[in-house]
Amino acid sequence: MDRDELITQLQDDPVIWDFIIIGGGATGLGTAVEAASRGYRTLLLEQHDFAKGTSSRSTKLVHGGVRYLRQGNVSLVLEALRERGLLRQNAPHLVKNQSFIVPNYDWWEGPFYGIGLKIYDKLAGDLGLGPSENLSKEETLAKIPTLEPDDLNGGVIYHDAQFDDSRLAINLLQTLFDHDGIGINYMEVTDLLKANGLISGVKAEDREGNHTFELQARAVINATGIFTDSIRKMDDPDNRELIRPSQGVHIVLDESFQPGESAIMVPKTDDGRVLFAVPWHDRIIVGTTDTPIEAPSLEPRAKEEEVEFLLTHAARYLTKDPEPEDVLSVFAGIRPLVANKNSKDTSSISRDHSLIIDPSGLVTIAGGKWTTYRKMAEDTIDEATMVAGLDERESITDNLRLHGWLKNSDAADPFELYGSDALALKKIASEQADGNPQLHPNLPYTPAEVIWAARSEMARTVEDVLARRTRALLLDARASIEIAEPVAKLMARELNYDHQWVTNQVETYTELAKGYFLSP
Ligand SMILES: Cc1cc2nc3c(=O)[nH]c(=O)nc-3n(C[C@H](O)[C@H](O)[C@H](O)COP(=O)(O)OP(=O)(O)OC[C@H]3O[C@@H](n4cnc5c(N)ncnc54)[C@H](O)[C@@H]3O)c2cc1C
Repeated sequence: MDRDELITQLQDDPVIWDFIIIGGGATGLGTAVEAASRGYRTLLLEQHDFAKGTSSRSTKLVHGGVRYLRQGNVSLVLEALRERGLLRQNAPHLVKNQSFIVPNYDWWEGPFYGIGLKIYDKLAGDLGLGPSENLSKEETLAKIPTLEPDDLNGGVIYHDAQFDDSRLAINLLQTLFDHDGIGINYMEVTDLLKANGLISGVKAEDREGNHTFELQARAVINATGIFTDSIRKMDDPDNRELIRPSQGVHIVLDESFQPGESAIMVPKTDDGRVLFAVPWHDRIIVGTTDTPIEAPSLEPRAKEEEVEFLLTHAARYLTKDPEPEDVLSVFAGIRPLVANKNSKDTSSISRDHSLIIDPSGLVTIAGGKWTTYRKMAEDTIDEATMVAGLDERESITDNLRLHGWLKNSDAADPFELYGSDALALKKIASEQADGNPQLHPNLPYTPAEVIWAARSEMARTVEDVLARRTRALLLDARASIEIAEPVAKLMARELNYDHQWVTNQVETYTELAKGYFLSP
């Protein structure tokens, strides 16, 4: 995956793609894999880095959505539980079982949530990850010793799954290449091409080289999340706005706040939301909020009241109250919620995601969640094939092993998340003259991950490496700034950049990362 070679290929070899997919988040990457694995010529274009948008800012859960069960939306839960099972099977190196405890402080909560979660188990059927159970107070505290014991009656334990969102995005990108598709980052679609009123391709600008491309396709798929409307307005400026952006914030704490393997799930906070505190890469992620916002942004910032809400709720359920200075990182993401549907141009596949075919042939897929990306992609390509006038081919993704697939990966292996690529990383590590030392005592990363990211995962900037190829920015934003320079130097060596590039990268990254911690 040499980006410069891909750019040359695009310049020298003008082809008519079967599908051009705009957007390199979960939805776009999933759709590209769906298309390429059915044998269609597939090109994906991402304006920034893969998963820069919402797809690196989730709560990192692969879940059926207990919340939807409460709303009575059984079909949605069934669909998500099936996808959870498939993802666990197709990317076992990244998707792990996660036990959750619903702490019960009121007498009715044990039986109430106990019954609800039994239904959840039943819906999962053979793809279930373990039975839910009611726990006594002692059993609950044995699992989470720092849970607030006052007035605690007991808990209910149930099982879902957890993953690393941007690592899965990169594995999807690699899977796309494994199936002869192409994905390019830092390539922004700036306009749509039309012939006789129908979409015939896209105009795209290479943000690194400032080249402009006119690329032809039989169908163009808009998978741009919160930016969905900007692409639909390129098609028709009168198109109604579809997306209602809503921000969700997480804070990241040291694992001493919640030691052990279990997560906490609070079914109803003061504002009626579900709150999670989940162990992740030896930290605890607490989230999330739900704040309607005006305009979409690639780099959303947490509002003070959102952080306050999370700190207050974490303190309510944990014996050790987190203070602002305990927050290792705070990150915000924006949900691409679809506002309402216009029956004229909208075919609703489920209440969770929307697939729209405009009169021009533009295919738009929006909404949904990470967990259901594969089903969204399957629905999209089924429809887009007809728009493109291509022969129909069966989906194979429900049993398609994603790049990196490795059963029984070793939790003690520092490169476990890389699955079958871990061997290649070990080789790079063994070639380091200084023995591949950890870059920072508070972060689990070494030069090998940086070199691999630049060489094999299309990382182009220090931010790509520290925010998405590794998760340094989320695990400890301050520490990540301290390693920006060595990371930039390692990348410059790989990608042939000069001293000035290193200086610029360190400055740019430092500015960005300062937005991820609270106090100076
Ligand atoms: C706070 C929060 C927590 C969540 N937690 C979970 C969870 O635990 N589990 C779960 O299953 N789901 C979760 N979700 C939902 C999930 O993260 C999203 O549904 C999913 O990531 C959306 O992916 P996407 O590809 O549609 O959008 P995005 O990831 O935003 O991708 C869209 C991409 O399009 C690109 N783009 C835009 N315009 C252009 C252009 N002109 N040219 C080229 N590229 C362009 C953007 O740069 C962006 O990368 C959560 C969401 C939020 C906000």
